[in-house]
Amino acid sequence: MCVELVEGKTAVYGIIGDRVEKSFSPVLQNTIGREMGVNMVYVPFKVESGRVRAAVEGGRAMNIRGFNVTVPHKIEVMDALASVDETAARIGAVNTLKLTENGYEGYNTDIIGLKKCFDERKTSLKGRNVVLAGAGGAANSAAILAGEEKAAKLVIVNRTAEKAEALAERVRKYYDTEVEVIGYDKLMDIAEPEIFIQTTSVGMGSDETPVAEKEFFKNVGIVVDIIYTPWETRLMREAKEMGAAAVNGFDMLFYQGLASFEIWNDMKAEPEKTLELKKKLTEFYRGRA
Ligand code: NAP
Repeated sequence: MCVELVEGKTAVYGIIGDRVEKSFSPVLQNTIGREMGVNMVYVPFKVESGRVRAAVEGGRAMNIRGFNVTVPHKIEVMDALASVDETAARIGAVNTLKLTENGYEGYNTDIIGLKKCFDERKTSLKGRNVVLAGAGGAANSAAILAGEEKAAKLVIVNRTAEKAEALAERVRKYYDTEVEVIGYDKLMDIAEPEIFIQTTSVGMGSDETPVAEKEFFKNVGIVVDIIYTPWETRLMREAKEMGAAAVNGFDMLFYQGLASFEIWNDMKAEPEKTLELKKKLTEFYRGRA
């Protein structure tokens, strides 16, 4: 699925993480590179915690043009960079590094990927009531997106209240969006929950859901569950049963990868090409899942 022939001038990219064996990013990036006509190859690099700076410095020494960064290094890597873009700094995590003369610049394309899930469905968060389940790594991007898009209200629902409070403070620091923190037992009390973003790991590879009562989705217009295995989570299924639209996490995964590619190569994929790539990669992923 990658460039036909790796030669001397092939640009090298990669992903840094501690469970890269499971990552879909090599398939994603090598396919995008080939389809977009870029002479590049993208490989997985298993890096343990505590060795992230050494990996980044080694990458620079070897002229590796860019990296994606995945769990658990998205925060640790920030200390090893020449600069961090403003939105990534607000999120507090970086998933894309681009090599420059001074070292690597850091970006966060998870937020771009998540935004595309709404843009593609002509849904704006502006002035809306957004409910966010989870306060972990992925929730940071979702919460900052709610602020960036000027959501009227963000309700963060999490098992561990302290983590949700810390995330709420981060949003309040930068944005006017009203932010509230609740536990799952108060979910049914939310007045007019219009948009629901599911970022917990509940339902990943299982038939579990963090939302006990599916009636909660009665007034919800759209649900984005950032999980993509199984393709349709129980939460998505129950939301649909109650009349909401439901999107899984594959779109976010695809668009964060495409955004990294576009940052590295200073190019934008045409809308038609983007949909063609998404279709191809979706078929490939579903065929293997
Ligand atoms: P994380 O930092 O470990 O956060 C996990 C979150 O899930 C926390 O809020 C945690 O709550 C919550 N949680 C875990 N078990 C729970 C339970 N039994 N009941 C209620 N809440 C529970 O993980 P992450 O990096 O944010 O990733 C979360 C999920 O998103 C993963 O499945 C990951 O694969 C997926 N993801 C998808 C994309 C994409 O592109 N589609 C991108 C990133 C991540 P506590 O705070 O109480 O522990």
